[in-house]
Amino acid sequence: MTMFACPECERPFAGGRCECRRDWTETGGVPDLYVAAADRGELLGITGDIRTFYEDNPGPPWRPDDDDKSVARSGSADPLLASLDAELAPRARLLDLGCGGGAAACFLGLQGREVIGVDVAMTGLLRGEAFRRRLGLGSVSFVRGNLFRPPATPGSVDAVVLFHVLETTGAELPALKAAARALRTGGRLALRVATPYSTPPTPAPPQHHASPPSELHRWLAEAGFILETPHSGRIVQELRELRWKWFGAGPAEVALLARKG
Ligand SMILES: [Zn+2]
Repeated sequence: MTMFACPECERPFAGGRCECRRDWTETGGVPDLYVAAADRGELLGITGDIRTFYEDNPGPPWRPDDDDKSVARSGSADPLLASLDAELAPRARLLDLGCGGGAAACFLGLQGREVIGVDVAMTGLLRGEAFRRRLGLGSVSFVRGNLFRPPATPGSVDAVVLFHVLETTGAELPALKAAARALRTGGRLALRVATPYSTPPTPAPPQHHASPPSELHRWLAEAGFILETPHSGRIVQELRELRWKWFGAGPAEVALLARKG
């Protein structure tokens, strides 16, 4: 089973015109596979606002001296990414939903894993694509797409990365369900999400809304995810109710690994 699929018909993606007769275009080597997904809980107005925001605020660019070593260094310094990296097989297939400029996607693809970085905004994707080419990461792709209808064959993905995306969707449960649909049974979700104790980023994306961890717990369970045991003592009482494999540095952020049951 191939992972990369036409989001319209879910046949293997081959570029250009699909068997379903949908024509896919590309810009600078980045296919545009965005398909609206109101039927899967996407709030289209929010997606439009988020896209505008991230086209204008794509985050810091790759520096001229960034290379595979600096990507490996910064990825390994992130306990959540390092743990995911250690758990995944060398041939594992990953989907990074809301990948921005591609830091996590490039790190996880350094050893040749198939990684598809998906984002709604082209600015970060083009940066990621240029950097991927510079590094010669042939197994990493960047795609404009919709996290509610990702360009992946259902059940084909070993791990989904979702870093600071849920709190901008206004539709957390549908977003988690979309990730669960793409994952195989036992596949991993690496999730990073702001809590109400955090200070919103500056500038803050429109609709940025951090939900209580108790809500997050409920959504994860409803989407079919199983959380692992926490191993940090530095959690406030409300967060303590969650059972997770915890990587967060404090209550400002939930950073966890879960698996699809
Ligand atoms: Zn198709």
